[in-house]
Amino acid sequence: MRILIVGAGIAGLTAALALLRDAHDVEVYEQAPRLAELGAGVQISANGARVLFALGLEDAIRAVWCEPAGKEIRLWNTGETWKLFDLGAESVARYGAPYFMIHRADLHGVLIDAVRALKGDAIRLDARCAGFDDDGRSVTLHLASGARVTGDAIVGADGVHSRIRNILAGDDKPEFTGCMAWRGLVPAEKLPAHMRRPVGVNWVGPGGHVINYFLRGGTIFNFVGIVERDWRVESWTEKGSREDCAADFAGWHADIHAIIRNIDQPYKWALLGRTPLTRFSSGRATLIGDAAHPTLPMLGQGANMAIEDGIVLSRCLSAYDDATTAFARYDAARVARTAKLVQGANEAAKRFHNPALADAAGARAYVDTEWSEARTKQRYDWIFEYDATRVAI
Ligand SMILES: Cc1cc2nc3c(=O)[nH]c(=O)nc-3n(C[C@H](O)[C@H](O)[C@H](O)COP(=O)(O)OP(=O)(O)OC[C@H]3O[C@@H](n4cnc5c(N)ncnc54)[C@H](O)[C@@H]3O)c2cc1C
Repeated sequence: MRILIVGAGIAGLTAALALLRDAHDVEVYEQAPRLAELGAGVQISANGARVLFALGLEDAIRAVWCEPAGKEIRLWNTGETWKLFDLGAESVARYGAPYFMIHRADLHGVLIDAVRALKGDAIRLDARCAGFDDDGRSVTLHLASGARVTGDAIVGADGVHSRIRNILAGDDKPEFTGCMAWRGLVPAEKLPAHMRRPVGVNWVGPGGHVINYFLRGGTIFNFVGIVERDWRVESWTEKGSREDCAADFAGWHADIHAIIRNIDQPYKWALLGRTPLTRFSSGRATLIGDAAHPTLPMLGQGANMAIEDGIVLSRCLSAYDDATTAFARYDAARVARTAKLVQGANEAAKRFHNPALADAAGARAYVDTEWSEARTKQRYDWIFEYDATRVAI
């Protein structure tokens, strides 16, 4: 089939690669004039890694990733530390695939190279989608330039402010969650020596949490700090100041302030919640990635879901002769899982920011219960065990 994908983010490129490997003809229409990703990290758990490796990207990813030995929980003010889970060999033994951290630009670059190796001109830049028609036999993509492109099916991979979702499902009504996310990168050599350990850390505290981990073989440190505070601009590129960020973490541990002091440029992103859709597809059009199921970042699963979507979508389009049936099967495979992940991310905020974490004694009791080995397994195993390369379609 000739598949038109709107958006060259992680979702659109993973789907393009999977479809090209399955011998479909694919074109990706990206609004940006050049391909670039943000300066930020992303955590890829076993469910996402399994797909990327199945798509032949293992060597390219290993060259740029950072594989932590494990994850820790740390208390916001005292820095008291608990093991959350082991990663490294343990993730591979338990889930059959690694858990790794990667710079978004590096993952994006690996996907772009792989797509272009199969079809050199697959990615069309400066090509903003304005709308589309579906006449039941084919689809026509309308570009803002006035150009029209015809294909067998259209895939909206156009992110959280998706035009295609808007056409398929109407205006969504995002609700401010009361939280905003700070993000920034720090050159590793600027951190105190005791912080340069190969572990990912989830700092938890009343009204906020911080996620940090290393990227690019340990040379860059990624910071995401989420606080309960008013800020309504949902954009990855809105700049903030180190002073403002530090003020949001007043009273937090010195290690947090050592990070914030050394962030190159902090950015701030409003966290808006959206009710999960009950279907992603209509006729010959469907949605993947954040366009389908925008989520809060609390479980680190937005990009992982996008990657899972890509391969399931490709499997469906290869298994069924017509796009409408393929997309109905894709919905059947994906809607419930992604809604459960979106819901899980909503609930995680309450745990990470719980008032019980305010003082050390209350925090110990809370952490021992909420992050016990049994609870942690119950919360994460179903996420990491999912095999998008084999799930029933
Ligand atoms: C603070 C934070 C931390 C996160 N950390 C993690 C993590 O650790 N692990 C994880 O799995 N996920 C994480 N996520 C989520 C993850 O970043 C997203 O889920 C993922 O990037 C979505 O990819 P996408 O391709 O669907 O969308 P995007 O990356 O937004 O790509 C959409 C693309 O479509 C293009 N586009 C938009 N409109 C049009 C149009 N009309 N025409 C043509 N092109 C268009 C855009 O320019 C863009 O290139 C995090 C998110 C946040 C906010």
